[in-house]
Amino acid sequence: MSASTPSYEARTRKLRDVDPEVFGLIQRETERQEYGLEMIPSENFVSEAVLEAMGSVLTNKYAEGQPGKRYYGGCHVVDDVENLASARCCELFGAEFANMQPHSGVQANQAVFEAFLKPGDTFMGLRLDQGGHLSHGSPVNFSGMHYKVVGYGVREADCLIDPDEVLSLARQHKPKLIIAGASAYARQFDWKVFRQAADEVGAIFLADIAHYAGLVAGGAYPSPVPYADIVTTTTHKTLRGPRSGMIMGRAAHQKAINKAVFPGLQGGPHMHTIAAKAVMFKEALTPDFKRYAQQTVDNARALAAALIKGGLKIVSGGTDSHLMLVDVRPLGVTGKVGEETLDRVGITANKNSIPFDPQPFTICSGVRLGTPALTTRGMGTKEMEQVAAFIVEALQNSGNDAKLKSVTAGVQELSRKFPLYKHRLVS
Ligand SMILES: *Cc1c(COP(=O)(O)O)cnc(C)c1O
Repeated sequence: MSASTPSYEARTRKLRDVDPEVFGLIQRETERQEYGLEMIPSENFVSEAVLEAMGSVLTNKYAEGQPGKRYYGGCHVVDDVENLASARCCELFGAEFANMQPHSGVQANQAVFEAFLKPGDTFMGLRLDQGGHLSHGSPVNFSGMHYKVVGYGVREADCLIDPDEVLSLARQHKPKLIIAGASAYARQFDWKVFRQAADEVGAIFLADIAHYAGLVAGGAYPSPVPYADIVTTTTHKTLRGPRSGMIMGRAAHQKAINKAVFPGLQGGPHMHTIAAKAVMFKEALTPDFKRYAQQTVDNARALAAALIKGGLKIVSGGTDSHLMLVDVRPLGVTGKVGEETLDRVGITANKNSIPFDPQPFTICSGVRLGTPALTTRGMGTKEMEQVAAFIVEALQNSGNDAKLKSVTAGVQELSRKFPLYKHRLVS
């Protein structure tokens, strides 16, 4: 061993001793999560078991290729890990195949574009300003830069997706790919309509359930798996797994998808994250998770009802999922001020355009709220009424420091009743 090689003792020291600066930052973030109310609908809190798999030595392993067909030696163990994750995924969703390798949600979508489209081809997606995702055709994203985008929207009258518009746009533009899925749409997608549109014009139907995946897994939101050619999702939102993505679909498309992910788009898969996904699936296959998914939706409905009672408006009048778009104008604030005010009392959310928003996207008229993270902490509909009261009181008093301080105290008191990672805090 050369003198410059760190000793076994040096390599096995804890983060706290090796790098107090980063350790301290992680402590600060743990505290922020512990003592605030996390209401960003795309966030959740993973279990210790998921964290443990993510922090494992599997991060050391290169495994380019598919299980059994790798470009590196020593892959027999990680082959088992990836096969286990895929098998559990197919069991959970009833999919014919699953690819566990996408690094995140956007990479999963990008692989689908690579598999089925050439640059310049036309596809359809829900408009970003009406609930869609950047990777469904925003001009600043690869999807909008390299392909022709036809955006569908929601009806002005009820803020619901209009099946007739989807069908007529498809007939008119003959897209090669039709995407259903959203980041800020609280209602149920009618997957059959998209299947019909795709069939009429010979398009691939991609359902991107990044937001709804956990609800789908738990039976609390309709599954697109019987209808879609391909289903993509993130694994860190309602599915409550590691920050990552994945792709499922019909067996006929497996080869094209696998090739597009690797070598088309990515290099080595993150085996530690794939192990954490396997753990996530095991958790999601339990009756507990079914209850979690239903409670998340029940909580969202209770929160929406209580916010309406408090004078706020909910886009489309309510929710069928884990999230809602709150029109904050009735309380005299913009989305931007709403987000900042909630932040000050320890409620984390994000400003969001509402459909037909007169404000620019930097200001917005809405705030997007979700219940997945609070439900993971164990909160129920009773707590949602309390949370709604905090939100209404804060928004009504956005300029009143004393009032905001008293709301902050209430937020902290409620958080302390539902411990999260307090065992990870050293002080
Ligand atoms: C969050 C989201 C994604 C992107 O996921 P990342 O993991 O952030 O890349 C893709 N599609 C939809 C609909 C989303 O909501």
